[in-house]
Amino acid sequence: MQFDLNEEQVMFRDSVAGFAQRNLAAGALERAHTDDYPWDVAKLMAKNGLLGITVAEDKGGMGGKLMDAVIAIEQIAKVCPRSADVIQAGNFGAIRTFAQFASPEQQRQYLAPLLTGDGLIAVAMTEPNAGSAVTELTTTATPDGDGFRVTGQKIFTTHGLHATCFLVYVRYGPGTGNIGSVLIERGQEGFTFGKPVRFLSGEEWNPLFFDNVYVPKEKVLLGPGGFKKQMAGFNVERIGNTARSLALGRFAFDAAVEHAKTRKQFGRYLMDFQGLQWKFAEMKLKLDAAQLLLYRAATNADAGLPSPEETAIAKIACNRAGFECANEAMQIMGGSGYSEDGLVEYCLRRTRGWMIAGGAIEVLLNRIAEGVFDQRFPQTPPKPAAA
Ligand SMILES: Cc1cc2nc3c(=O)[nH]c(=O)nc-3n(C[C@H](O)[C@H](O)[C@H](O)COP(=O)(O)OP(=O)(O)OC[C@H]3O[C@@H](n4cnc5c(N)ncnc54)[C@H](O)[C@@H]3O)c2cc1C
Repeated sequence: MQFDLNEEQVMFRDSVAGFAQRNLAAGALERAHTDDYPWDVAKLMAKNGLLGITVAEDKGGMGGKLMDAVIAIEQIAKVCPRSADVIQAGNFGAIRTFAQFASPEQQRQYLAPLLTGDGLIAVAMTEPNAGSAVTELTTTATPDGDGFRVTGQKIFTTHGLHATCFLVYVRYGPGTGNIGSVLIERGQEGFTFGKPVRFLSGEEWNPLFFDNVYVPKEKVLLGPGGFKKQMAGFNVERIGNTARSLALGRFAFDAAVEHAKTRKQFGRYLMDFQGLQWKFAEMKLKLDAAQLLLYRAATNADAGLPSPEETAIAKIACNRAGFECANEAMQIMGGSGYSEDGLVEYCLRRTRGWMIAGGAIEVLLNRIAEGVFDQRFPQTPPKPAAA
């Protein structure tokens, strides 16, 4: 068993850390409070090989492993938490599912702009009546000539205001076996947006409305029977949320350590109070334990996609560690932690969201319990017994 990064990973980590310091340290606070997608950061990252890290080289990516992408997102988040969203979008999000399953023609058309930072793909899965129960989605793809007509509504889509194209989960017929996904571009006829709404994190989302939107067969990513593949790809997205949760918790922890070393009350540094020392010890324990679970899930996935169970375990541990450490860091920093002139309050708001996004903690606990008992626990009500 190996607990340290190997030589290549250390070199990559140090080079990303250098890139972040040189290019992202200045302006990190401002970026966290800007609504627009950081397109300039995306283009810069693309030039430095930080988008498509796990996408195969023959598809225009870097041919790296999931663990490389995790290292990158951690190093970026450490310096500029908001810029870690660009690493997420360019490596872990819908782009990863897309790169895995897209046809050569789809890749040619869509992947290139995503990898240069000129395009952005969002995943539109959640609906007003299909959140955790995503298989209850009702956005429908009805055959029409050579393609389909898509009708339905999506909510909570990250980057909905900025994405150039959307990976939309649809159903081709009844049942889970008929769920798949299609690509729909911003600006297509019948595709409109509702009024933006803000999450606690500050991020905006807007309802997406699809009214008889035409999707030619060339824009179908996964047809009927594609749901399992889609969720396999979605586990990579979860690893990105997991890594950012942990990284932002660590960011807040580091800020609190520095604060405790320099802030004096009652004639002593905060770090000299045992009541606070124990808070730091507890935080370190949580962060380090969660880190090992994240690295296990990412390392074991290096030959392909991460295991659903290891991903669920890592996500819960990192979601909790990230949020709890950001919360404790804020308490230790008092009014300074609670103020918008620092990034700790931002880390708290963002880490809270990831306990819900990408599979809420309770739903992932259900997944882990299924592994414990080696059986499925359907969440739908039992069917009434026949009379
Ligand atoms: C910051 C953020 C970003 C997001 N980005 C996207 C995105 O890009 N694309 C997209 O499609 N969606 C996105 N979502 C939506 C996200 O996937 C859903 O919010 C999530 O799946 C939960 O669904 P829900 O909000 O409808 O809650 P519900 O499903 O209504 O759940 C409410 C509560 O009940 C619990 N619960 C539900 N079922 C069970 C059960 N069987 N057992 C125990 N507890 C249960 C849940 O854990 C939760 O605590 C985002 C959400 C957030 C907060």
